[in-house]
Amino acid sequence: DPAVRFHEVVREYRLGEEIVRALDGVDLDLAGGQFVSIVGPSGAGKSTLLHLMGGLDTPTSGTVTVGGQDIGAYSDTQLAEFRRHHIGFVFQFFNLLPTLTAWENVAVPRLLDGQALSTARDDAIALLQRVGLADRVEHRPAELSGGQMQRVAIARALINDPPVILADEPTGNLDSRTGSGVLDLLTDIAHSGTNRLVVMVTHDRSAADRTDRVLTMRDGRLENADG
Ligand code: ADP
Ligand code: ADP
Repeated sequence: DPAVRFHEVVREYRLGEEIVRALDGVDLDLAGGQFVSIVGPSGAGKSTLLHLMGGLDTPTSGTVTVGGQDIGAYSDTQLAEFRRHHIGFVFQFFNLLPTLTAWENVAVPRLLDGQALSTARDDAIALLQRVGLADRVEHRPAELSGGQMQRVAIARALINDPPVILADEPTGNLDSRTGSGVLDLLTDIAHSGTNRLVVMVTHDRSAADRTDRVLTMRDGRLENADG
């Protein structure tokens, strides 16, 4: 089973009297164990595609299957539960909580799930070691560089061991050397043998060129579907 499957997916938004078709019939299969990028001009539908994969949005028509689950008909409650266990999100501006330390930020999803602080702490620290921040676990975001903050955010995305990681412009706020380190880490996460799928939206063509597969969107369609 592919990690992500889209079949004839259409997503329309209503803007006053007008209907905007953000996705105009997308067919797509993404296998696990890959690092995939989505590129294309502004307004092409990249964010909409990522949001549908992550259960942040549902299709107007067509089917979206993630990890074998048809999430298109899920209620908001079902989607929230699905996201918690199947998807890790990584953002351009990191979205860390400024008053919490690095390990506390990584542990937040576990604490929201009601897990004991001590177990969550051990797992959070192990993940911070994995992303190269063993010596930063007690630091707060303001005491970290941009690259380090993004590594904390990536560790947080991994804490529930989700099969899919979705990253929206993860290097967009980093200089190229630091961004390159983050791309190495995302590559490593996809290729680590756990069959995890990493999908990244990017404006940076050189970042996209380092991924296993580049999907190009234009006017709500994939230009190179299933290449
Ligand atoms: P990209 O990420 O490639 O810039 P988006 O997926 O954000 O593209 O948007 C695709 C199209 O859908 C654009 O025309 C955008 O204006 C429109 N759109 C996206 N989200 C909404 C929304 N919530 N309401 C109305 N129109 C939207
Ligand atoms: P930054 O600290 O600049 O935000 P990262 O923490 O993302 O960068 O690190 C990116 C990569 O560059 C890592 O592999 C890190 O070990 C390496 N690195 C960071 N600072 C230096 C340095 N001063 N000299 C050499 N390599 C470095």
